[in-house]
This record gives sequence, structure tokens and C-alpha cells, in this order.
Amino acid sequence: MAEETVFTKIITGKIPSKLLYHDDLVSAFRDISPKAPVHILIVPNKPIPSVNDVAPEDEPAIGRMFSVARKLAADEGIAADGYRLIVNVGKNGGQEVPHLHMHLLGGQVMGALGFRGNGE
Ligand code: 5GP
Repeated sequence: MAEETVFTKIITGKIPSKLLYHDDLVSAFRDISPKAPVHILIVPNKPIPSVNDVAPEDEPAIGRMFSVARKLAADEGIAADGYRLIVNVGKNGGQEVPHLHMHLLGGQVMGALGFRGNGE
């Protein structure tokens, strides 16, 4: 069984936190260290460590994550101007918390994707 992450503690209320969205499959809350005016994390309630661990039975939760991203983007008033959805995977992807999550970033022009070590 996967270790209990900070995100599981947020979803289950062990860490007091304001959930922007919660249903039987997915939860969403603001990132503690926002990288944009709007920075929300959308996570499956099931503690799937990363995309590498997604199983066919997880597809409803993964699909729901996109529906929640669309809803929250509209709620936050950033849908029309656009936004960025990011899912980091593992060490090279820059994933810090081993509980699958989608970053919803917006409220400004997000610019080019950054890469380390490509000489730029
Ligand atoms: P990753 O690098 O794993 O894709 O992103 C993890 C994100 O989780 C980071 O943006 C970080 O700021 C956020 N984060 C880490 N710990 C907490 C926490 O305790 N609460 C919240 N709301 N966000 C967190």
C-alpha cells in the first residue's frame, strides 16, 4: 500500500484545509506555494503514486480530474483566457509529492515550458 501523503491527509481532513471541490473520486485545493495567481491541485482521492501507477479501473477518476479542471477554471474566471494543466511524473518530471496530481495554473500568461540542462 502506498504511503500516506500530505495530499491524503488534506483529502481526509487530517490536515485542516479548504477543499475547493470534493466528490467520491476527486478533490481539489489551492497549492500552498502558488506559482501563478490561480494555482490549484486536482487529485484523485485514491492515493495513486504517479501516472506510472494508473490502472484501467482508475480511468473514471482520471477523467473526472479533467471535468473538475474545466469547472474550476470557469469558477476562477480563467477559462476564456486559458490556463495550463501540468502533471509531473517522477524525478525527471519534477514530482515532489508521490500522490498523482494535476496542477491548474492560470490568471497570467504562463510562458514557455521550462527545461533544465538544455543550455537555455
Ligand atoms: P509536484 O512538484 O509534486 O508536481 O507538486 C507538488 C505541489 O504540492 C507543489 O506545487 C507544492 O507547492 C504543493 N504542496 C506541497 N505540500 C503541500 C501542502 O501541504 N499543501 C498544499 N496545499 N500544497 C502542497
